[in-house]
Amino acid sequence: MNEKWLLLRQLDTGHTKHLVAAVVLVCLWTAEGLIPLHRGRTRRLAHGGANLGLALINAVIFQGAGIGLVWATDWGQRHQVGLLTAVQLPVWGLWILAILLIDGWQYFWHRINHRLPFLWRFHAVHHADAEMDATSAVRFHTGEIGFSFLARLLVLPLLGVTVPQLLLYEAISLPVILFHHSNIRLTNNQDRWLRWLLVTPWMHQVHHSHWQPETDSNYSSFLSIWDRLFGSFRLNPDPATIRLGLDGWREADWRSLPGMLKTPLRRRLPQKEKRPIR
Ligand SMILES: [Zn+2]
Ligand SMILES: [Zn+2]
Repeated sequence: MNEKWLLLRQLDTGHTKHLVAAVVLVCLWTAEGLIPLHRGRTRRLAHGGANLGLALINAVIFQGAGIGLVWATDWGQRHQVGLLTAVQLPVWGLWILAILLIDGWQYFWHRINHRLPFLWRFHAVHHADAEMDATSAVRFHTGEIGFSFLARLLVLPLLGVTVPQLLLYEAISLPVILFHHSNIRLTNNQDRWLRWLLVTPWMHQVHHSHWQPETDSNYSSFLSIWDRLFGSFRLNPDPATIRLGLDGWREADWRSLPGMLKTPLRRRLPQKEKRPIR
């Protein structure tokens, strides 16, 4: 495959992805106003603005990063080093396996971010959000985006996925990630049907709980199978009662853009609540 074609496709699909994300975000934002799970939020615009501001900074800093991933996956294909290049399957089977491999990697990378104190310093910015809504889906510290990018440079060629497969994964997973961060009230029945396959708001609210046994569960990003497979699946009977965020953060630490950016540099990081609370 011609490298220039790949780059053009990557850039084009990137724009389409952002357009789809913007439309999904507006729909979720409206639904959050109509049927909120956690009620009584009065500063939705300021909160969402700060989260989207961080996403914009990341988009500007990493705007050329896609080219690096194109190069790395293309290198893996040309040198036949990846897992998928050694598998004999029909084309549709390879695509499904590629989606599973990328999503499985996302699960393990997320677990590593909770396990290693250095990476948690950056990932804590995502968890510090005490008013989680759909905009929290793009609230990641610039450092975390950078480490994730470096890890992908190494892992994607080893998995043997192609650029179009990676783009398909990103296009189908992003709306799901926006949705499971949203502050939308679903019934347990509605959520249960969805969570057989996908990560849902009931699952991800638990992951954003301030209580450590809940924070350190439900690491999946797109498909819910990984938490079921590796024993990290956890539910709370009433997600509306979950206290979100991390303990010990002043408002300016978690809600303002400078507070988010400075978080990893703090000497003592607020901890997850370890005491049994229920
Ligand atoms: Zn997390
Ligand atoms: Zn999250």
